[in-house]
Amino acid sequence: MESHYPFALPPLPYPYDALEPDIDAKTLCFHHDKHFAAYVDNLNKLLEPYPSYHSWSLEQLCQNWRDLPDEIRQGVRNNAGGAFNHDLYFRTLRALPPSAPQPPLDGAVRRVFGSTDGLKTALKSAALSVFGSGWACLCTDKDGNLSIQKVANQDTVLPLTPLLCCDVWEHAYYLQYQNRRGDYFDAWWRLIDWPQVSERYARILQSHPPIP
Ligand code: MN
Repeated sequence: MESHYPFALPPLPYPYDALEPDIDAKTLCFHHDKHFAAYVDNLNKLLEPYPSYHSWSLEQLCQNWRDLPDEIRQGVRNNAGGAFNHDLYFRTLRALPPSAPQPPLDGAVRRVFGSTDGLKTALKSAALSVFGSGWACLCTDKDGNLSIQKVANQDTVLPLTPLLCCDVWEHAYYLQYQNRRGDYFDAWWRLIDWPQVSERYARILQSHPPIP
């Protein structure tokens, strides 16, 4: 997304029906065009009267919302986080066929989770145990150490870097899966664009070589 105000809604990087049958077109359309769009619009409306924050990046707003004036603090926390999380959510999915983690991410996954299936089990357990609305994320620190984090509402995992974020707000799945969050997770998992996620992980490692 743009580095600062005014933020624009990134277009969906594939057609609405591209992720069928795992995520149907109606769910994807509402999720991107209504929910994601609302976070971006609300964030711009909140910031519009406050030019001193127009140079702040989305990441800065997500991390430093505590420093903002009382009247916009909670709104920016929610909507900047919503914009940040959803930007990643849509960018890390793609149509079938299924893919798998690639080097060096695959090795890191094996070290921490035993296997790709081990990662799936751990991430699914996190996703199912988020109480209410929130996210389950695969994250890395700047040295490439992987971890799974849960956040509530639209908080972010920053300053960790999220590699994958599973949206477990009901708006992400209820039209299609109703209360079956686990089935939605399995569908989401099949859609992960592992080549792209692996490339982002490799770039993070290159900019911060791990301590030997
Ligand atoms: Mn969402």
